[in-house]
Amino acid sequence: MIGKLRVVNSLSREKEVFEPLNAPHVGMYVCGPTVYSDVHLGNVRTFMSFDVIYRYLQFLGYKVRYVRNITDVGHLLDDTGEDKISRKAKLENLEPMEIVQKYTNDFHRVMETFNILPPDIEPTATGHLMEQLDMIQELVDNGFAYESNGSVYFDISKFNEKYDYGKLSGRKTEDLLNQTRELDGGSDKRSPLDFALWKKAAPEHIMRWNTKWSDGFPGWHLECSVMSTKYLGEEFDIHGGGMDLKFPHHECEIAQNAGSTGKEGAKYWMHTNMLTVNGTKMSKSLGNSFLPHELISGDHELLEHGYSPMTIRFFMLQSHYASTLDFSNEALDAAQKGYMKLANGLRLIKNYEYPEGLAEEINTKQAEQINKICDNCYHAMNDDFNTALTIGHLFNLVKKVNSIQTGQLKFEEIGKETFERMKSTFIAFCEEILGLKLETNLSSQNLLEVILEEYKVAKEAKNYDKVDELRAKLKAEGVIVKDMKTGIDWAFEE
Ligand code: AMP
Ligand code: ZN
Repeated sequence: MIGKLRVVNSLSREKEVFEPLNAPHVGMYVCGPTVYSDVHLGNVRTFMSFDVIYRYLQFLGYKVRYVRNITDVGHLLDDTGEDKISRKAKLENLEPMEIVQKYTNDFHRVMETFNILPPDIEPTATGHLMEQLDMIQELVDNGFAYESNGSVYFDISKFNEKYDYGKLSGRKTEDLLNQTRELDGGSDKRSPLDFALWKKAAPEHIMRWNTKWSDGFPGWHLECSVMSTKYLGEEFDIHGGGMDLKFPHHECEIAQNAGSTGKEGAKYWMHTNMLTVNGTKMSKSLGNSFLPHELISGDHELLEHGYSPMTIRFFMLQSHYASTLDFSNEALDAAQKGYMKLANGLRLIKNYEYPEGLAEEINTKQAEQINKICDNCYHAMNDDFNTALTIGHLFNLVKKVNSIQTGQLKFEEIGKETFERMKSTFIAFCEEILGLKLETNLSSQNLLEVILEEYKVAKEAKNYDKVDELRAKLKAEGVIVKDMKTGIDWAFEE
């Protein structure tokens, strides 16, 4: 391993040396999607950022248990207070679980399209209701929660007697209270900051479970405390999500964890920044979201053409996860050129083998340069997973690969050891760590037609050796050439 991994911890707001609680094991929890609509590219950016973090930790030799949940109940709409899944189910006249299944399937498809690895555990909120009820009881028993008219709320002022609500997002309770509207007379809460652990369901609410408190449903923040504790323990290493989750979602999670177990959950909190469109956060509710399939097909009024999944992945990784990333045709076009350049370098180096028995005539300056670039790839990723810098260093390696291709740089000048290091570093950082795989946009139908044209020319020239060779090659691919009276045709071999 080269150097130490440092991560920016949202809790301390500092770059800290990464020291897992129980190395080589690492526990990582990332808040997953609320499955009531198609995932948009903003969501993709967040999950892709954690995918790279997951990949790099594994590359460094850590044994990572990655938990990413599916929110399938309890995430309420801000304007109406209705459950997001419930509302969609009513609109589409489906069972809530049909909505959940439909959008979970869509989510998985999108993750696979962008080569985002599946987590090790993908628990759902509805699959962990018993555990959620247990945590509510613990919070009530510990004096941090109270029941009111069949709902149970977390008591922020009780919590503040012992802990500090708002430490993650740097908010003060008095300021929060000043910014919040007074409770209306009908509220069950003691204070406007108190948040729901269990909500009594209104008659029209369709997702409900009968418990000793009421026929109701769990609050959104609870599931993540419950599932992270269950699968990673009361204390674990990394907890992540988009910046918009810092407050209140993650703040509430810390409060629930501390209130029930006495421990605050994660050691390192990591937050990704937003994908924006003309400077505004991409969001379903703002109506400025792009869906993955629209970007891939180019079927959107603001797009001139489509982009391949790996171009989009490259585009996203060209900025550091903690910076905002603005979405535009120009930026995507530039990313397409960049990705092609990297892909060509990758394709070339994968095919290069150091010639056997070649006497070395090492050019020290060149060898040192190459080794330095390889070191820099590690330094960049060790610096809070800086994919932007890493890509810059990979481009420097592409230059060396291109020099080999043009013959300006000779294998013997690099030497076997440095060549092998360059090759393995390039491939590992592109494919294993950044998850950029080679993709071809070639159409097999078009290629087949090119070959059949060549076959026709060979036949007309009575070049039977060539004819036989092309026939054999196509047969090896399962294609039989047919010489018809009407011309040349083909069929799949039966
Ligand atoms: P949601 O399904 O809305 O809960 O979002 C799933 C994840 O995507 C959360 O971690 C959000 O913080 C994140 N997210 C939502 N919008 C964006 C955006 N525009 N850019 C980056 N991440 C986002
Ligand atoms: Zn969460």
